[in-house]
Amino acid sequence: MQILLKGGILLTEDHSPKRMDLFIDGNQISQIAEKIRVESEYVVNCENKIVSPGFVNMHNHVSMTNMRTLLDDMQFSKFLEAGFKLDAVRTDEDVYYGSKLGIAEMLRKGTTTFLDMYYGEDMVAKAAKEAGIRSYLGWSIVNKNQTTQKGEPLKNAEEFIKKFRGDELVTPLPAPHGIYSCDRDDLMASKEIADRYDLPYTIHLSENRREVYDVVKKEKKRPVEYLEGLGFLSNRLIAAHAIYVTLNEIKIMGRIGMTVVNNPVSNMKLANGNFVPAIEMIQHGINFTLGTDSAATGNSMDMLENAKLASLLQKNYREEGAVFPPSQVLDFMTKNPWKVLGKNSGILREGALADVTIVGGGVGQIPLRKDNAERILIYSSNGNDVEHTIVNGKLLYSQGKYQGMDLDDLRMKNEKIFDRYNSLMNS
Ligand SMILES: [Zn+2]
Repeated sequence: MQILLKGGILLTEDHSPKRMDLFIDGNQISQIAEKIRVESEYVVNCENKIVSPGFVNMHNHVSMTNMRTLLDDMQFSKFLEAGFKLDAVRTDEDVYYGSKLGIAEMLRKGTTTFLDMYYGEDMVAKAAKEAGIRSYLGWSIVNKNQTTQKGEPLKNAEEFIKKFRGDELVTPLPAPHGIYSCDRDDLMASKEIADRYDLPYTIHLSENRREVYDVVKKEKKRPVEYLEGLGFLSNRLIAAHAIYVTLNEIKIMGRIGMTVVNNPVSNMKLANGNFVPAIEMIQHGINFTLGTDSAATGNSMDMLENAKLASLLQKNYREEGAVFPPSQVLDFMTKNPWKVLGKNSGILREGALADVTIVGGGVGQIPLRKDNAERILIYSSNGNDVEHTIVNGKLLYSQGKYQGMDLDDLRMKNEKIFDRYNSLMNS
């Protein structure tokens, strides 16, 4: 596919947006120039629109999209309990249709790549491949005495990795669920798989007070210190949340070069309390990124909503208006994820993978100029302002239309699943 983006404001790597044309040929950005005159299969008029590197959602459980609103307004412990109860009755079909719906929503809101954690990732992979989105799919590893998945989680994870290794769009990886749901052996076996196949791996870390207290009580160490002692940490580890961490833990994570995912909407909705010490994390060398968490916790899977709130939370808690400006926040969801995911994406540059999101034009975004484009994107836009989403050189979402996805069918299938869950919750 060839796509010519005409006259948009390009968000460039150096954070000085420019009005340029951008030409996509195959799965790469082949040319960026003031005026490009080529014959192109598709031409998109981007005048008065922002052309951004595609958004990367670094934490999701996408198949839970058909559980949306069933787990609202609960204390965190109650949420986990109810979540596991629903998990236990889910079929492959439930996981597949929930994923497909979630992927449609992410594409509609400008996400071109997502990192997932769940069991049944082969169903998520099927949905992701059909949709054409780029994905990093973490097979969830939970201690075998606690798990709701069939078979042994570690074996399942490795089988999944063997099956999808080398795929162009899907990267399979191990995802030990958390230190409260994995014992030492589970954690180290997960890391061993990641090492052996040279893959990133992801975990929930210090998301709430309770989890930290329990580890301190049992291990006499803070969670990051405990994991360091085991030899579990590395620069391929992606830790979701990391809200309750001390300066010493931040220093350890920074020295190792870990990646942290901030999920402000989910954290606030689950009333996790406190806020991520993001400035200190970045100062000490942690790779900082953003995620939405699932539609059952963050509800909207909107990266722009999370970007704005990530910025506002830091400003408000610290009483410092200058922290987390849009130029920096934009990197969290475009450039930074690729430092650990390892592909040439997340920047608008010739030769980079053509993962591009086009936003704008609405009344809430006027006046749009080159010098305020990043601020318009982060502070004044949300996912519904996205007009086109391009992944790997393919126009997957364009002004209300999806390539090869039947939304009516998806709605029908997911509503039936939702009704089943709803009666279970009320029984
Ligand atoms: Zn999560």
